[in-house]
Amino acid sequence: MKLSRRSFLYAAGIGVGALAAPGVGGLMTSHTGVETSTPRGESLWTSEIPPLPPVSPLENDRAVDLAIVGSGYTGLACAYYAKRMRPDWSVIVLESHRLGSGASSRNSGAVSTAYRGVGTNGMTLRGYERLMRFIEEEEIECDFTRGGVIELYPSSRQAERVRSSLSSGQKWISASELEEGMHTPFYAGAVENEEYSTLHPAKLVAGHVRAAQRLGVDLFENSPVVEVKGGKPAELVTPKARVRANYVFIATNAHTPRLGLLKYVMMPVHQYTFATRRLTEEEIKIYGVDRWNMRFERSVLPVTTHVTPSGHFFIRIVLGYAGHNSCEWKGIGRARNRAAEMFRRRYPWISDVELTHGWHGVTGHTLLGREIACPVLGENVHVSAAYNGLGVMPGHNNGYLTACRITGQPEPDISLLSGASGHIPIPGEFYRSLIFKPFMAVAAPA
Ligand SMILES: Cc1cc2nc3c(=O)[nH]c(=O)nc-3n(C[C@H](O)[C@H](O)[C@H](O)COP(=O)(O)OP(=O)(O)OC[C@H]3O[C@@H](n4cnc5c(N)ncnc54)[C@H](O)[C@@H]3O)c2cc1C
Repeated sequence: MKLSRRSFLYAAGIGVGALAAPGVGGLMTSHTGVETSTPRGESLWTSEIPPLPPVSPLENDRAVDLAIVGSGYTGLACAYYAKRMRPDWSVIVLESHRLGSGASSRNSGAVSTAYRGVGTNGMTLRGYERLMRFIEEEEIECDFTRGGVIELYPSSRQAERVRSSLSSGQKWISASELEEGMHTPFYAGAVENEEYSTLHPAKLVAGHVRAAQRLGVDLFENSPVVEVKGGKPAELVTPKARVRANYVFIATNAHTPRLGLLKYVMMPVHQYTFATRRLTEEEIKIYGVDRWNMRFERSVLPVTTHVTPSGHFFIRIVLGYAGHNSCEWKGIGRARNRAAEMFRRRYPWISDVELTHGWHGVTGHTLLGREIACPVLGENVHVSAAYNGLGVMPGHNNGYLTACRITGQPEPDISLLSGASGHIPIPGEFYRSLIFKPFMAVAAPA
């Protein structure tokens, strides 16, 4: 299989992050099994909305038409659409922690019209429109805003290359304009991009939960699935009860290898996000924080900065991969220091501002950067995972497409989903570290 330069750097970048990151000693261990009790800290987003009303754990055995594992955008969207397509079906969602407390409420809130590794095409545009329709029809107030995104280049060589090949309509922003407009001496230039919109991730999660509950989907939290058994019906084992289901959908994203599935083609990558206290309107104006509110730094290990609708400015950095341990990052204190240091180097004025919210998150990755959505363990057990850090729209859309696949609803876009074949196998921990080590020094973000 031909590996493009971009894919190769992308793959290398993931590994480099792991090795350059704190907690490197922990990388050599490859835990398996499902985390049932790892506590999860709260993201800034979750702290800004009223807590979702608790739902009970699964305590009694059940037999259902469709059982979904994982209550992020993917699992909840599948539950919602499946119930709309087949109102007569019993549909349940099992979540190991609190509802929606995974990546779906920890991300940076950028909504792309593209799938990572695929780009923008008819299918992804329809997925974007579907998400917009869902937000509108379900009256989800999630601070949806269009446009205002820039891509920043720290290296002058890269900046020059991009500047000299701009397509018509793209606007170049010079280093001096960036320094004047948003008080950063760090970048060599940037391009304005209209590809992304932004929203409040936790409000979108809450909207998914409400929509699924309104249609009669049964949700269970603190109900980790510790084993998936294929068969007709398939069986899900939780600590207190078992579920027999005609169809199963595994929507556990970065945690999927912990269930023993896709472990040779995907891996979790850990991220840390650090946010300032709420900035005053004057500070926002002085530092140009709301100009190009979503900022993507194009380095091998991408960095995102963004001002939230409530006025917190944050940085999101890649910590690295950690075998199959998708919940904990050892040395989170050092990760915070590193994020703070990276923040200050990019925006020196941050030194005078308190950093009040920090949270950890994980994304699921494949070496070619494409997601995986297909049946596993027989035709009635499906999976969708590994959005490679860009899953707000793809998660919702793959939830919809998998609902179509499971209920038999005709939908041509199903054929455009990436299956599990054709992906580059990911070697074990030992070999990963050997392969990626040489890239450490050059690619670790300053
Ligand atoms: C820091 C960060 C920034 C990001 N920024 C962006 C962005 O700006 N734009 C974008 O498009 N995407 C972004 N993403 C990616 C995006 O958030 C994810 O791709 C998307 O949320 C995936 O949704 P999901 O439902 O598939 O997974 P998740 O939201 O992770 O949901 C999976 C759920 O499964 C549960 N689970 C796991 N194992 C089990 C089990 N055994 N039993 C029961 N439940 C289980 C988990 O607890 C979790 O709640 C970001 C992610 C992170 C972490």
